Amino acid sequence: MSDADALAGRYARLKAALPAGVTLVAVSKTRSPAEIKALHDLGHRDFGENYAQELRAKQPVLPSDIRWHFIGHLQRSNARHIVPIAHLIHGVDGAPLLDEIEKRAAGLERAVDVLLQVHIAQEETKHGLSPAEAEALVREWDTARWPRIGLRGLMGMATLTADEGQVRAEFHGLAQLFGRLKPLAPAPERFDTLSMGMSGDLPQALAEGSNLVRVGTALFGERG
Ligand SMILES: *Cc1c(COP(=O)(O)O)cnc(C)c1O
Repeated sequence: MSDADALAGRYARLKAALPAGVTLVAVSKTRSPAEIKALHDLGHRDFGENYAQELRAKQPVLPSDIRWHFIGHLQRSNARHIVPIAHLIHGVDGAPLLDEIEKRAAGLERAVDVLLQVHIAQEETKHGLSPAEAEALVREWDTARWPRIGLRGLMGMATLTADEGQVRAEFHGLAQLFGRLKPLAPAPERFDTLSMGMSGDLPQALAEGSNLVRVGTALFGERG
């Protein structure tokens, strides 16, 4: 079987496993433009990258109808590169970054959609706001300060563990927070995206109501 056939097979199986209404973001970090193009040729349009430099290098050489999701930790100094490109910025972790995104969006006269990243894992290394910080930020959201930013929902990453119960409990907590914050959001009907689940914890995330999954290895194979 050719690489292209293998990719098509994995893509078809993954799509069949996703409930209606769940967006699949193909995480293409470390993948070549040719690999991304192969999935684009199958009709896929949502791709996720988590390094600003890598996204900046790939975006100009790939089709312009790709919706790029920035799923990594966005440094303020990189916002000026990412705001012009991103369809959705998943990793927003506070007011200083929102100020920088707003400034860049204003310069381009464009709106930009974001998710707040919430720290739900036990690992120290994962970025994001605590649930309490996320709640405070939504409650105090200042549409005059961030008029061009659309607050679309939450993103989180579970602990990397074989304990499926723990993973599910972490996703459950994020889903509960999402439900609690939705009515408090500046535009509740647009606060509609719950980004959780990747190759290793997809069933747990879907069981807890994820409507956007970020999948790399289960689509493209192991990263080299
Ligand atoms: C790499 C990455 C993924 C995808 O991970 P896989 O295990 O390859 O599916 C999802 N989300 C984020 C934030 C990532 O950095």
